[in-house]
Amino acid sequence: MDPKTTLWFAEQQKKDLDLWFTERQTKDMKISVRVKKTLHQELTPFQSLAVLDTEQFGRMLTLDNIIQTTVKDEFVYHEMITHVALNTHAAPKKVLVIGGGDGGAVREIIKHQSVEKAVHCEIDGAVIEASRRFLPEISCAMDDPRVEIIVDDGIKHVQENKNTYDVIMVDSPDPIGPAVGLFSVSFYKDIFASLKEDGIFVAQTESPFFNRDLIPGLYRDISGIFPVTRLYLAVVPTYPGGLWTFTMGSKKYDPLEVDISGIPQLDTKYYSPDMHRACFVLPPFVKELLVQQG
Ligand code: SAM
Repeated sequence: MDPKTTLWFAEQQKKDLDLWFTERQTKDMKISVRVKKTLHQELTPFQSLAVLDTEQFGRMLTLDNIIQTTVKDEFVYHEMITHVALNTHAAPKKVLVIGGGDGGAVREIIKHQSVEKAVHCEIDGAVIEASRRFLPEISCAMDDPRVEIIVDDGIKHVQENKNTYDVIMVDSPDPIGPAVGLFSVSFYKDIFASLKEDGIFVAQTESPFFNRDLIPGLYRDISGIFPVTRLYLAVVPTYPGGLWTFTMGSKKYDPLEVDISGIPQLDTKYYSPDMHRACFVLPPFVKELLVQQG
């Protein structure tokens, strides 16, 4: 081929290179994100892991081809899984995150001055390493002296640590693979035992549109164990349907009784004292899930 033609082909190829990551969010729905570059891919002992640089959301972590977090929208999820419970507890000192390998939850936890220790128990060390390397703005608190990282199964960790934590957050993936047990009644009972007498637990509990078969059962299980159970909402653009649920189980404090005028100023972009209230206002189609027998 003459050099001119070769150059033409190279230019054409550059134009045509149109790479997309596609997550099958439900059996009948997919989300696709244009990929600038694949930064990392590996098969860990637990799952397939990838870090992609995308046009729309910046760097993105996927596990088993499911979007876990992106640098553009991670703040919503990480602020909402942490600050609602931390500002409901009177003085959280010892906090546990189960899962959450990217480190975003831990980054938010250490914004609270009362917190003396944030234990981060993630089953897959490769998620921690990839996040350190490719997602520094999310994993940046991992080396904070108040943070302790444990690479282990969170189910085992709560079984072995009774009456230890003020707040426990379950930052899990969808209920598949090593995370199935993180949605079980026996795990919630172990969490109850791992919390101190006024402890609070919060978990991400999936989509109110697409997980309508899962949420009623989870809510019933949690409210069968914790005296106060509350479900709240946030909007995370990369999760199926965007609208996302979190469920809180509390031994004593009620997030609805918090005096929001006393919530300290935090450096946040989604959570605020007003959002602390507003997130518990549920549309009827979500309220309906809480009275169903799961
Ligand atoms: N925000 C995310 C979402 O909803 O998609 C969750 C992100 S975070 C990366 C989930 C982490 O939980 C994963 O890194 C996974 O390895 C970890 N995980 C799964 N099962 C676990 C278990 N039994 N104990 C501790 N960590 C677990």
